[in-house]
Amino acid sequence: MKIYNTLTQKKEEFVPLEEGKVRMYVCGPTVYNYIHIGNARPAILFDTLRRYLEYRGYEVNYVSNFTDVDDKIIKKANEEGVSAAEISERYIEEFRTDMDALNIREATVHPKATQEIDGMIEMISDLIKKGHAYEKNGTVYFSTRSFKEYGKLSKKKIDDLEAGIRIAVSEEKEDPMDFVLWKPKKEGEPSWQSPWSDGRPGWHIECSVMSRKYLGEQIDIHAGGEDLVFPHHENEIAQSEAANGKQFAKYWMHNAFLNIDNKKMSKSAGNFFTVREICEQYDPQVIRFFMLNSHYRSPLNFSRDLVESAKNSLNRILTAIGALEHLLGSGALDRELVSSDEQLILTEAEALNTKFMDAMDEDFNTADAIAAIFELVKLANTHCNASSSKEFVQTLQERLVNLCSILGLETKKEEELLDEEIEKLIEERQAARKNKDFARSDEIRNLLLEKGIILEDTREGVRWKRS
Ligand code: AMP
Ligand code: ZN
Repeated sequence: MKIYNTLTQKKEEFVPLEEGKVRMYVCGPTVYNYIHIGNARPAILFDTLRRYLEYRGYEVNYVSNFTDVDDKIIKKANEEGVSAAEISERYIEEFRTDMDALNIREATVHPKATQEIDGMIEMISDLIKKGHAYEKNGTVYFSTRSFKEYGKLSKKKIDDLEAGIRIAVSEEKEDPMDFVLWKPKKEGEPSWQSPWSDGRPGWHIECSVMSRKYLGEQIDIHAGGEDLVFPHHENEIAQSEAANGKQFAKYWMHNAFLNIDNKKMSKSAGNFFTVREICEQYDPQVIRFFMLNSHYRSPLNFSRDLVESAKNSLNRILTAIGALEHLLGSGALDRELVSSDEQLILTEAEALNTKFMDAMDEDFNTADAIAAIFELVKLANTHCNASSSKEFVQTLQERLVNLCSILGLETKKEEELLDEEIEKLIEERQAARKNKDFARSDEIRNLLLEKGIILEDTREGVRWKRS
């Protein structure tokens, strides 16, 4: 399998550090709000990569963090008059709901920054001892010039960075490019004791610490969106390699942005849709399919038209599989033996299977892999009918289901809820709301959403429709 490595800027043969095992770290969300569908892009892509690696027989240890202490979380907590922990816990739960809907598997370990402070203090102390960090008035900075390879991932040079951009020069810093590892608390902020001040860690250090703790000093794949290349991943490399004296990650993978009108979807720009709101309008599988239908290193424009077209394409695959299942269950296929014509088609199907794998092996080209699925759909639609042999139909059906499942696409149609079951759940939700049991009321709403039922609160009461 070949992977494009941001570090070497080349496609490289994937050879893990330890045979048969993959250690993978994906930078996770800062939990202060619902995630937008731009954030869902890396989550879906790297979950699919994990599934594919497992399919190829690797044992994958997949670690992804929650940044649960940060300026934005603290700001939101102050606005609502609650603790930062309450905000982060709430949005970790919401994140999990979205991940579930998108069929993204739980990470092997999903550590939270606030529970790893001791490890961070330990690594920062070590960096100071080794001459890579220094303390000024309770703040600890990483000394970027002490790490000779600084800039190797983003291909930036410290001198150019300093000449090119106007960086607010803090008087404490020895060099403008130095970055914070630990900072003293401000009034009203959560804080932890440390040898330097009561305070909290900078953002970058958590990933170096968690990655080492759960995966070891060296890992195979480190991944995230391309905005993380600089400074976040560059700084992670500096911290980890300065502390451990070893190469940190062997392969660095970065997805391109999900854009709207060719601009990055982002919270701060205000041009975003949450996963939650899109999933109210579309089956979450459509979103998953939409993301996988283009190459991960190509920018992807989000528009209703494109999502509609993804919905239709996915439906073509699901309808084909449904038709094969219907044939198999109909009792019409009474011929057991595969005919020689069918054998030829099965050989073609086998070649399409290989085409799928080749595409995935060629820098994780899910778009081409999906194209192979469509060719298989075409074969099935053209050649399967009531006079086919059972084995022929079954083989094509199994191939299709298998390829979809590698991509995390469910092919079984969910049992539909009956009207009266829906009404009963809505009544239960109303009662839960009356009793201020919002957890249960949200749970019911999400359950209905998963089944494609959309609720609308109107003055006349709750109305519902199927999506
Ligand atoms: P954040 O919570 O902003 O740190 O983002 C979480 C993940 O989503 C990171 O891997 C980001 O690089 C990624 N990300 C954020 N915005 C986008 C976008 N518009 N398109 C693709 N990935 C994004
Ligand atoms: Zn990170």
